[in-house]
Amino acid sequence: MSNVLHIPSYLSAEHLGPWETFLVQIDRVEPHLAAELRPLVPILTRPMRALIVNVPIRLDNGEMAHFEGYRVQHNLSRGPGKGGIRFHPRVTLSEVMALSAWMTVKNAVVNVPFGGAKGGVRVDPKGLSPAELERLTRRYTSEIHILLGQDKDIPAPDINTNEQVMAWVMDTYSMNEGRTAMGVVTGKPVSLGGSLGRRGATGRGVFVSTAEAARRLGLEIAGARVAIQGFGNVGDAAARCFADAGARVVALQDDSGSIANPGGFDVRAVKAWRLEHGMLAGAPGAESISADDFWATDADILVAAALENQITAANARQIRARLITEGANGPTTPEADLILQDRGITVIPDVLANSGGVTVSYFEWVQDISAFFWSEEEINARLERIMREAFSAVWEAARQKGISLRTAAFVLGCERVLTAHKLRGLYP
Ligand code: NAD
Repeated sequence: MSNVLHIPSYLSAEHLGPWETFLVQIDRVEPHLAAELRPLVPILTRPMRALIVNVPIRLDNGEMAHFEGYRVQHNLSRGPGKGGIRFHPRVTLSEVMALSAWMTVKNAVVNVPFGGAKGGVRVDPKGLSPAELERLTRRYTSEIHILLGQDKDIPAPDINTNEQVMAWVMDTYSMNEGRTAMGVVTGKPVSLGGSLGRRGATGRGVFVSTAEAARRLGLEIAGARVAIQGFGNVGDAAARCFADAGARVVALQDDSGSIANPGGFDVRAVKAWRLEHGMLAGAPGAESISADDFWATDADILVAAALENQITAANARQIRARLITEGANGPTTPEADLILQDRGITVIPDVLANSGGVTVSYFEWVQDISAFFWSEEEINARLERIMREAFSAVWEAARQKGISLRTAAFVLGCERVLTAHKLRGLYP
């Protein structure tokens, strides 16, 4: 790693975790940045603020439990912080820092006026009752209240958080402020100031960016074979878009296992089965396969829509897809990235591919602030236009500079962020 990169004392230098992935990405991008912006790169290698909180709650059995929570604001040079809240038993400060930094880059790539932020609580929400989950959400929101606000920092859903959790965040913030503050969080229920089209927006954006890449690679979406890891909010919405466009979803993997069907699944039927039975195995038309077989699926397109660090040096050589779309944040390790590049596999990076979610979150925020709501057709059309423009800009930059789509997206995003710093100057 180059010496501009700084490892903070509050992370373990030996086990840097996802933050290291981000630092390596910045290291790879730096030589391609405009010369006058390069001296500002160290700003990106430190989060602006990181808040660590204890979240104590009363369990249903009367006992007290404590959970560690975080909210990190990586960079606010282009606008208020924006980024989801993740509930996961293994979430770490390093992970939330990396996710907040990717939000900075992502918001700049699609050119929405937000900085990068992210939050998380180390909890397995499946082990909590709905009432416990509500108390956890409300206490966590109160603990990070000092950072929140529609013009300060605006959370959204992420892994294991949903519209109901966002409604509790909105209500808790509003109660503490003594007014209804809809614009403080996005991904809310539509009846509470949420936006039409938000639920499926990330998956739709994954589909739009994949279709843009496929067209340029001469790959027909109709009839293409698609393997999808992660069948939650992002993976499910993407699967539906692919199926509706005539592609065949031939393999699926989630935390319950992996299934395949070379003829293509009825993805809605598989989702209904998953919801009813809590696992993919046994779904209509499904043959259970091993995780290794999932990665080696004979597919044209692979969508990684689960967690980070899923495509690693261990499985990157098995992948047979020509095109990989990162619906998840950070699913590809830097080593795997180089292997995929060597093998000529095109990777649409997370900061571009999954930016549909934050784009419609931006629309939700604008609608809340203006108290004027748009139709779903209008939202989907605007989303598709923004995604196509961002894709085109990244593709062109990659072609002109002879760099990967990831590096090109980072160049575009980082240059916008660093230009904002340069124009604003250093305070005081
Ligand atoms: P989700 O909780 O709805 O779904 C996560 C999916 O991943 C589930 O199907 C789960 O079973 C699966 N999964 C979990 N662990 C796994 C494992 N070890 N192996 C295989 N599958 C596993 O979450 P989501 O909202 O769909 O988010 C998925 C990814 O997309 C995350 O990286 C998130 O940060 C990113 N993302 C989400 C949004 C959004 O709008 N929801 C926006 C941008 C990025």
